[in-house]
Amino acid sequence: MTTDADQLCPSCEVAPGNLHGERCDVALCAVTGRQRSGCGHGGRGCNTVWTGQYPGFAEVVEYGLYARLGPGRGWQKCAADGYGRWT
Ligand SMILES: [Zn+2]
Ligand SMILES: [Zn+2]
Repeated sequence: MTTDADQLCPSCEVAPGNLHGERCDVALCAVTGRQRSGCGHGGRGCNTVWTGQYPGFAEVVEYGLYARLGPGRGWQKCAADGYGRWT
């Protein structure tokens, strides 16, 4: 099995199938389903696995609801060609 470098988590750089890093801001809290960064659990018991795609990415495509991650802003809706990282 090979790991494509661009499948690494863009925040904590773990390979797919591994738990996100403690300060990863892509990871979702397993308890709240929201961004794990600042979820209030102190990073305990709610880490999630990086799947190789942004959390919810498949659903985003399915429903045509594209979003991008802005620094300090969380996810925001955007045009279909502007999803992913804030640029
Ligand atoms: Zn991560
Ligand atoms: Zn949490």
